[in-house]
Amino acid sequence: SRTPLVAGNWKMNGSRELAGTFSDTLNANSVEGVDVVICPPSVFLTSFEASAFALGGQDVSALDNGAHTGDVSTGMLAECGCDYVIVGHSERRQDHGESSELVAQKAARVLSANLTPIVCIGEPLDVREAGESALQEYLGKQLAALTKQLSPQDLSGCVIAYEPIWAIGTGKTASPEQAQNVHAYIRATLAETDEAVADGMRILYGGSVKADNAEALFSQPDVDGGLIGGASLKADDFMTICQAA
Ligand code: 13P
Repeated sequence: SRTPLVAGNWKMNGSRELAGTFSDTLNANSVEGVDVVICPPSVFLTSFEASAFALGGQDVSALDNGAHTGDVSTGMLAECGCDYVIVGHSERRQDHGESSELVAQKAARVLSANLTPIVCIGEPLDVREAGESALQEYLGKQLAALTKQLSPQDLSGCVIAYEPIWAIGTGKTASPEQAQNVHAYIRATLAETDEAVADGMRILYGGSVKADNAEALFSQPDVDGGLIGGASLKADDFMTICQAA
């Protein structure tokens, strides 16, 4: 009953020309029953002709318009055609020191603009290696910041992306079983707040998803699609991944 979602996160890559190529390819090959999203650098948002897919931002300010040099607001992203915004990507948390509390504020701001936040969580390698309870405690804290700040109603407007940091850009994907275990944990944790919200929540997996491993990951019962980095920069690979969802 949950519509799968596949989002491409271009990170700091791409060009106007690539936006054109993607618009042509994705519009010509619409994937039935899957929500497809491209999150390019914000300067390229208006270079897309998105009819068979949606656009998303990679980050947004937690603040309203004003004197915040370099930042982009939810209203600006909406005006450039976005329906989604990624918040809390591990690269934002690492490179810009974003806390889970700030990430939750960003999610709230995105929701108040009637856009869908894709909230990223995920553990570093040392936490993964420390075992199951350390892993659950780490992810549980990231989730708690969100459930503390958002009402169940607001939470139901979110998408969650589980991206283990050790799997991002490394070619070392989580196994389908590892992904399923964590996704089931995330859903069970959300159910402590609200069972219906947990049931409806789309939980995406991210971290070295490629054309040849997407199907095994997406076929897990609690994996509702993916957040794709490197493989979202090649239109054919990205299409194959969307078709696997
Ligand atoms: P890769 O697919 O390149 O591992 O990146 C995953 C990611 O961080 C998507 O947000």
